[in-house]
Formats: sequence, C-alpha cells, structure tokens
Amino acid sequence: MNKQAKRKVSTTCPYCGVGCGVQASIQGNDLIATTGDQRHSANLGRLCIKGSKLPETGGHAGRLLYPQVAGQRVSWDQAVKSAAEGLQGIIDRHGPESVAFYLSGQLLTEDYYVANKLMKGFIGSSHVDTNSRLCMASTVAGHKRAFGADAVPGCYEDLELADLLVLVGSNAAWNHPVLYQRIQAAKQERPELKVVVIDPRRTATCDLADLHLALKPGTDSLLFNALLVHLAENQYLDHEFICNSTDHFTDSLLTALAEAADLKTVASQLDVPEHQLMTFFNWFAETPKTVTLFSQGVNQSSSGTDKVNALINCHLATGRVGKPGSTPFSLTGQPNAMGGREVGGLANQLAAHMGFSSEEVTLVEEFWQAPRMARQEGYKALDLFKAIHRGDIKAIWIQGTNPLVSLPDSQFVREALEKCELVIVSEAMAETDTMEFADIALPATTWSEKNGTVTNSERRISRQRGFLPAPGEARHDWQILCQVAKALGHGEAFNYQSPAAIFREHAALSGFKNQGQRCFDISGLQHLTDQAYESLQPVQWPVNSSNPLGTERLFTQGKFFTASQRAQFLSIQSRPPEQKLDPAYPFRLNTGRIRDQWHSMTRTGRSAALMQHRSEPFIEVHPEDAAQVGLQDQGLARVSHPQGEYLGRVRFSEGQRPGEIFLPMHWNRQFTGKGLCNQLIEQICDPVSGQPESKQGRVQLEAL
Ligand code: SF4
Repeated sequence: MNKQAKRKVSTTCPYCGVGCGVQASIQGNDLIATTGDQRHSANLGRLCIKGSKLPETGGHAGRLLYPQVAGQRVSWDQAVKSAAEGLQGIIDRHGPESVAFYLSGQLLTEDYYVANKLMKGFIGSSHVDTNSRLCMASTVAGHKRAFGADAVPGCYEDLELADLLVLVGSNAAWNHPVLYQRIQAAKQERPELKVVVIDPRRTATCDLADLHLALKPGTDSLLFNALLVHLAENQYLDHEFICNSTDHFTDSLLTALAEAADLKTVASQLDVPEHQLMTFFNWFAETPKTVTLFSQGVNQSSSGTDKVNALINCHLATGRVGKPGSTPFSLTGQPNAMGGREVGGLANQLAAHMGFSSEEVTLVEEFWQAPRMARQEGYKALDLFKAIHRGDIKAIWIQGTNPLVSLPDSQFVREALEKCELVIVSEAMAETDTMEFADIALPATTWSEKNGTVTNSERRISRQRGFLPAPGEARHDWQILCQVAKALGHGEAFNYQSPAAIFREHAALSGFKNQGQRCFDISGLQHLTDQAYESLQPVQWPVNSSNPLGTERLFTQGKFFTASQRAQFLSIQSRPPEQKLDPAYPFRLNTGRIRDQWHSMTRTGRSAALMQHRSEPFIEVHPEDAAQVGLQDQGLARVSHPQGEYLGRVRFSEGQRPGEIFLPMHWNRQFTGKGLCNQLIEQICDPVSGQPESKQGRVQLEAL
C-alpha cells in the first residue's frame, strides 16, 4: 500500500483551447486523480472526459528516455554538440535560410519564445512555423484584417450573457466540451436562450440547437453576405457604430449584394430550406446579445480568412463587438495556439504579435540585441515542407508535433523528411510517425513534468505546473533550446535559469516602446518574482498599467488597432472549395476530431476508457450513399484518393449530408497501417492565411 502523503497541485489541462483549470492529486510520484479546479473561471470546476482521464495517459511506457544520434544512445553533451554542429555546418554552407523550426500548439509559451528568439534573432532565419497553422491561421489573418490585431474580443462569460449563440463550423460538444457544458447549463437556466448550429453535419452539438442549418460545405461566406444584406435591407444596422468606428462598410455591402440579393437563390446555393434561413436571419437581426462562435469548420478552408471576415462583418454592422454577451468568438483548437501566436510562433509574425514591418523588426532587434535579425516573413507550414522537398531547406528541428500525421499529403511530408539532410526531433514519445526520420532525437518533458504558461481561447494566461519528475534523461524544451543556442555561440542571450525568467522577458518585450499602439501587452507581468510566477493566477491579456488586473473584453470604446483606429469591413466574394469533385472522386470528405481522442493519439490512445468511445478508424456515411455503394453498417470500406487510401469501419449516419463523408483525423500508423486520413487531403491552402483546406477533400468510396 502506498503510504506516501497525498498532495494537490493546480495546473491547466493540456488538451483543447478551453484551457480548463485542473486539480491534480499526487501520491509519491503517481498522478492518482484529476478534478476540475473550481476557482478557474474557464471551467468553474468542470472537466470533460479527456481531462478527467489524464492519470491514465501518463506513465513512462513508450517515452523517449535518452538522446539519440543516428539511432544510438548518446550523452546530452554529445546530442547538443551534434545538433549545434549539424545546424551550423548547414548554415555555413547554405546560409541561415536553409534551416527551419516546426513547432507545436502543445509547447508552452516559454518554449515557443526561446525557439523564436533563437531562430529569428540569432540564426537569422524566419522559417519558424507551427502546427497552429493547421488550426487557427485563418482566424489570425481575419482578426488582423478586421481589428488590426489578432485578438479575440470577448470572454467565456459572454456565452452566459448572450440571448443567441450561433456556432459555425464547431462541434463544441466534442471539441470544446466544457464550453458546451456551460452553454447547456445556460440554456437549462434560461430556455429562451436560442442556439443555432451552422454545420454541414448534424453533430452532437445539434442536440441543444433550436435551429440547425446543414449548409453545403464551403458556403459560409455566402451565408454571411446574405445576412449582411438582410440586416441592411431591414434596418438592423448600427449606423452610429458603423460611422464612428469602422471603414469600408458600403464597399462590403455592395459586394455582398452582388451575390446575395435574392434569398431564394441563396437558400438554393446553400442547399438549406428558405424558411430556416429566414429564421436564422430574423433571430440574428432581432437579438442584440448575439455571440457567434466559430472554429475549424470555418478555418480549415481555402477561403477560411474570407469566411472569418464575412462573419465579423455582420457583427461590425450591428455594433456587436466586445460587448457583454455580444461578440464574434473564435474557439481555439490547441491548448497553447494562442500563446504560440503571442511570441511569434507563426512564420509571418515576429514576437509579441508584431509583424515584419521595418519598424517592428528594428524594435525587436533592439530589445533582443539580436546579431542576425530575420527581416522578412518565412515559409508557412505547407511551403516549409515544400521547401524541404525542393532541397532549399536542409535542416529542420521539429518540436512536439507529428507532421507525418497532421499535415496534408503525408506521403509528400515523408518524402520531404527523407530528403532532408538533418532532421532533429524533440519529443516526449519514442515512436511517433515523425520520429522515424530523426537523425537526432531529443527526449522532452511533457505535461505534469514541465513548467510554464498557456493562453486559452479567451486570452487567459494560465500556469501549467510540473509536479512529477522527468523520466530517464528528458529535459524541458526551453532548456534544450538554450543548450543548443549556447553551443551555437549565443550563451549570453540564452542564459535563462527558469521559465519565469523567460516569461519576464516576453512580458517586457510586449510593453517595449508600446504606447498603446499594440494590443498584445502583458508588461504588467514583467516584474513577477519567481514566487509570484509560481503562484500566478489565470489572467486575461492585456495586463498593463491601464489594466493591471487583466482585461475581460476588448474594443469596448469602439477603438481598434488599425492605422485609422477603426475596424475594417472586408468585401468578400464567396468561393467554392478548391478540391473539386469529379466522377472519379465524387464524395466530399470532411475530417475532424472525435470526442475522446487528441491529435495523433500518442497520449489519449493509451487510455482504455478513452478508446471505448471509438475504438478504431471509421467512416461516417449517409445510408443513401451506403446503399448506392453497397456498404453495410459496421462493414469495412475503403476511401481513396490519387494520393492514397484509408480503410475503416462504416458507420451509418443520418447526420451526414448525402454525398459527404466524415473521417476522424487521429489514427496514425502505430494504430493502423491504413488510417492516415490526411493522406487524402491535397496541398491546398487559403491564400491569405496558408491554412490547409482539410475539411473539403474529394474522395471515392467502396466496400471491401
Ligand atoms: Fe481539457 Fe478541453 Fe476537456 Fe477542458 S474541455 S478538460 S481543456 S480537453
């Protein structure tokens, strides 16, 4: 019997962007239970099944325990030397542009900060991108175009304050379960709260919907253009807000009118009943307290940025931004996609939400005292792997992500990594699909072992706390990066002793020469002592001298971060998906998460309880299509595309639109040789954000 005393630690869940506070109960070196933290305002004591099963997904089995070079165990000194010499050799021969980092929304903000500083300030390349590109990049671009800053205006409390919640391309019941529980509770308390779900599939989220618009995939911009026209024609515009706080309304309305003037035609193009469309328009028009939540169904599209702006246009037209219970609201996928963006984890960002204008480059260069500052944007994720495939990038350091499973066209990624001269992988797990290509494998700590911060969907910075010892010789990502930086000759700038020291520098940079012109400002946290950092309570940015306790809502005074300080309407012309259906590949492929798994299952796949929900790769298909193709419910089928194939168990679903199928994104080669759904997705992305079109593939379907 374990007689060691029990203790509790407050931390943050490592999965989705809800960012729930977790109370971890520990006995000795065992995590024995996780419960929701009552004091954390994101979840108020709730947890979903993924959070409550965290104790089943840890342990040392399957972990990468020792550094390896060319598959052989080596000392840390040798591994760091090999990584630094490998990178430096390639830089000497081909220049700094020949090396790249590929990061992850699983990393903590402090890890991300050090990686960006090293590459963009000291190596001199801006080829640093992240798997957040696959998740949120269209929202980042949409926010910047509309608000002049990548900033979510609202907070979770707005869900309870709203009278109408519109969920667009979001299966929150499975992907943001605790927020869904909050919506459920709000609706129970106030049955008059209306919920509209806009999604081609009838998902679990529709269980509480008053209206489900099962629109044709890819038609969201047309829908919101038509809504804008409806609002204008029926006198629901907030003329004062439009006049005082926005630019380009008329252009935007004229563009919308050109394609969405006739409701009957629009309904037929969206493939939804006209009366349903009218109901949605009337509810939106007549409900000042409306929150529109949107997620990957909007983002993962070749016109994702336009969809974001079409949606925001309707909120600007009605003055519904950053008001209690009234705002557009992006639901972030990953636990720290937001924190990564805050330190410049995207190749088109620098740090502290700054871009690559000469002014911003100079400012960051001065702050970092950077000897080799990158001066222009780097490659976004897909372009990064294309550059590796072409041979332009010769070394990549992949940290905490599994691009073989998550990027479109896995075979291409495989070929790129095979060709790459030097592949360094920092990773907690020993056997991921990507690890197969590692020339240098560096064991990293993971949740429950490492310390730092994450930022959730409502801009709330929370602490993840380490409470278990690292297994084997695993080290923290920021430590590994600093050691390589020192070996590259940058010791002084990377002499951090703790994540707290990194956080202080990050906070100071956000306030450096910032007279209120930059939205991301946490300078109020730059002087935290180690002790204050350790006990830091969740807080929403900006945190500065004007808002020392953080900021619930942004843009409350109708002032934005554009040059004119006014929000920008965008003129949006809707576009169909780029992956075109044809007789050989007639089915529209939608991909996404399932309730109890996370990413490529390296953690959640270890829990028997989590595997119970869906235990094998499956294919969700409408019974009409199944009858036509000759599929049996629970039988096996093949989904194919010129790039590859996927085998799975058939699940009949009346919630699928005929002609469209759904595949889960999680299964990887460890679990099945033929379950990589991203192998079927083409390398097509949004031209503004670079986010892949992962939800509108084209495939063939046949019985096995
Ligand atoms: Fe974790 Fe998200 Fe579940 Fe909260 S809702 S417990 S953050 S997976």
